[in-house]
Amino acid sequence: MHSLDAFASGKLAALEAMSLRRRLKPTRRLPGAVVERDGKRLLSFSCNDYLGLSQHPAVIAAAQAAAAEHGAGSGASRLVTGDNPLIEELEARLARLKGTQACVVFGSGYLANTGVIPTFAGKQDVVFVDELAHACIWAGAQLSGAKVVSFPHNDSDALAELLAEHRSSFRHAIVATDGVFSMDGDVAPLDWLSAVCEANDAWLLVDDAHGVGVLGDGRGTAALFPEAVIPLQMGTLSKALGSYGGYLCGSQSVVDFLKTRARTVVYTTGLPPASAAAAIAALDLIEADPAFAAQPLRKARLFTKAAGLPLAESPIVPVVIGEADAALAASAALEAEGFLVVAIRPPTVPAGTARLRLAFSADHPDDEVLRLAALVRPYVEAPSRTNGA
Ligand SMILES: *Cc1c(COP(=O)(O)O)cnc(C)c1O
Repeated sequence: MHSLDAFASGKLAALEAMSLRRRLKPTRRLPGAVVERDGKRLLSFSCNDYLGLSQHPAVIAAAQAAAAEHGAGSGASRLVTGDNPLIEELEARLARLKGTQACVVFGSGYLANTGVIPTFAGKQDVVFVDELAHACIWAGAQLSGAKVVSFPHNDSDALAELLAEHRSSFRHAIVATDGVFSMDGDVAPLDWLSAVCEANDAWLLVDDAHGVGVLGDGRGTAALFPEAVIPLQMGTLSKALGSYGGYLCGSQSVVDFLKTRARTVVYTTGLPPASAAAAIAALDLIEADPAFAAQPLRKARLFTKAAGLPLAESPIVPVVIGEADAALAASAALEAEGFLVVAIRPPTVPAGTARLRLAFSADHPDDEVLRLAALVRPYVEAPSRTNGA
């Protein structure tokens, strides 16, 4: 056997033994939060398409029209010839939604964080990261070459102590956090984090991948904290907006510097025109109807009340089970009832906290939300009982 194959198959066998091997499952997504897998139709609580906009006729039509008019791809880096006018229009729309001077669109949210952090931090700098922040924030922080310091989850007092200890040894400081945490669904205390940052000359980066389109009338987590100063407002077009791509909203100078220097703008191809057009159409729908944007959170709260869980803060609700194999068994039991609720296992979440992660959609019928709550309730009341059952 080639040594590379021996390495890969040895690693896979070890992961398999810990129930940590992953397998892709071809999935057809249909309107109404329904997915089709292995010929079976399931109501999905594992899509981030919170408003069902990836399946919305107006969003699909906008993508089709843009592809017909501008082609399937953008053909080059934005700085060469790939700066399609639709991308510029999308940037203006996102800046308006966020109330910032300007915006730069990236190929994805992952590319946004791995481009933004290294543009503003280097070897002489320090990046503080919430311990539960998304993997691409960590990747961006590590890529920057700055010192990376993790701070306890949502703990602004601990952050203040760490800044007092480290800040003076470095030129610049970035504090990076999710707005809504992707595996826990809780919201960062942006008012407190902002106050700590302002007092210590640190730049706050908020990743609002799960807030934009669904919290604060669709304007995102920052809209819940009008006093907070957030100079780096990052997010994705790939979740509630139903398209693909990422963005950073900020001041004109911050955005102009990113367009000049961020490696994930300069050295990668511009967003496909159809993705930009779909995101614009999604913003039309979100801005026209704040009650629509509020639906996913309303469904999540209907669920948490019925399942005996703490009131949901966002459309993401975790049901922590414990061990990876027990979480997989719970997921399989729900699938037998017609629900797709994917089990999330380490290393995506800390060891011993494997969980069901539910993402609520405007398209979920209320009666199905309540039926699922009744099925999940036993795991909430006695998670350990399901171990090895
Ligand atoms: C999904 C996600 C991303 C990545 O966004 P993509 O557009 O899918 O690359 C970044 N941050 C958080 C918190 C996310 O949940």
